[in-house]
Amino acid sequence: MTSSAAEEVVARCVGLVKRYDDLVAVDGIDLQLTRGECFGLLGPNGAGKTTTVEMMEGLTEPTAGYVELLGLRWGSGQDDRIRARMGVALQETVLADKLTVEEVIRLFRSFYPSGRTVDEVLELMQLGPKRKAQYHQLSGGQKQRVALGVALVGRPDLLFLDEPTTGLDPQARMSVWEVVARYREEGGTVVLTTHYMEEAANMCDRIAVMDHGKIIAEGTPSGLVASLGGRQLVELEPAGELSEATLEGISGIQGVATRGRRVVLTVEDFASVLPPVLARLAERGVGLLHLSTHEATLDDVFVSLTGRGLRDE
Ligand code: ATP
Repeated sequence: MTSSAAEEVVARCVGLVKRYDDLVAVDGIDLQLTRGECFGLLGPNGAGKTTTVEMMEGLTEPTAGYVELLGLRWGSGQDDRIRARMGVALQETVLADKLTVEEVIRLFRSFYPSGRTVDEVLELMQLGPKRKAQYHQLSGGQKQRVALGVALVGRPDLLFLDEPTTGLDPQARMSVWEVVARYREEGGTVVLTTHYMEEAANMCDRIAVMDHGKIIAEGTPSGLVASLGGRQLVELEPAGELSEATLEGISGIQGVATRGRRVVLTVEDFASVLPPVLARLAERGVGLLHLSTHEATLDDVFVSLTGRGLRDE
């Protein structure tokens, strides 16, 4: 990707590798993020997302390669300057139970040379009514908003969110998304890891799909889905045998793949494809145990690249 002067590069990973003994957790990653974007690392458990962001955050030393944030390279004597300009919210943040929300935010504010006031953070997090509540009295979603507040108190240029909504109910998840959207309205840049494809599709301008420590695809959510060749999927489970060849020559089918007992068709418009497909199956005497259709998602992209779903073990 070429970047114009207007696209300020805020993070760069070059040839990033992390080995743990024989295990290669991250296997040569190159990334470039520009100011204002929300960049997502999407992949199944163990893909290497957290290890990648931990190297980006300066928490884990790369085995090879390097990370540059805001033009500064970790380990070049300027780590404190980098830390002052970034915020980190982890999947689970353990904060002192007996501190009130206000005290937690004030404590973290004291670590930064400049930043938001406690009131500004409470407003941004919509936690004003909870300012006097002790941390242990908060719901999971409220705790995660405090963690976000702590990450945003120094008015960072770059915000890292590692699986920020794992375990939250849909309403709490949306409130986290809203806070992130407000941060982005001010020009903030976000690096997000998630294994929720809906979260990646909703929040990210650009996504890198990771598997086994490598980036196997990169693009906008809609561009990645469009790479499937069709917008919709039709899943069929035949009662007997159904070879992909049986469906040959039916117009409107962009792709056919076998996943276990099921045959999955990628199509532009299932309404026009289904009648000839059903007619062909009837003609060949193939009964059906299951038929379903859905709009193509990032999970389908992952399946087409790896043969596995994002949530498969
Ligand atoms: P998840 O979605 O489950 O958080 P992930 O994509 O973030 O997964 P990582 O946590 O980066 O994946 O892990 C990548 C691989 O590296 C895994 O096989 C993991 O077991 C291994 N790994 C991570 N940290 C260490 C460590 N400190 N020591 C040894 N192996 C590790």
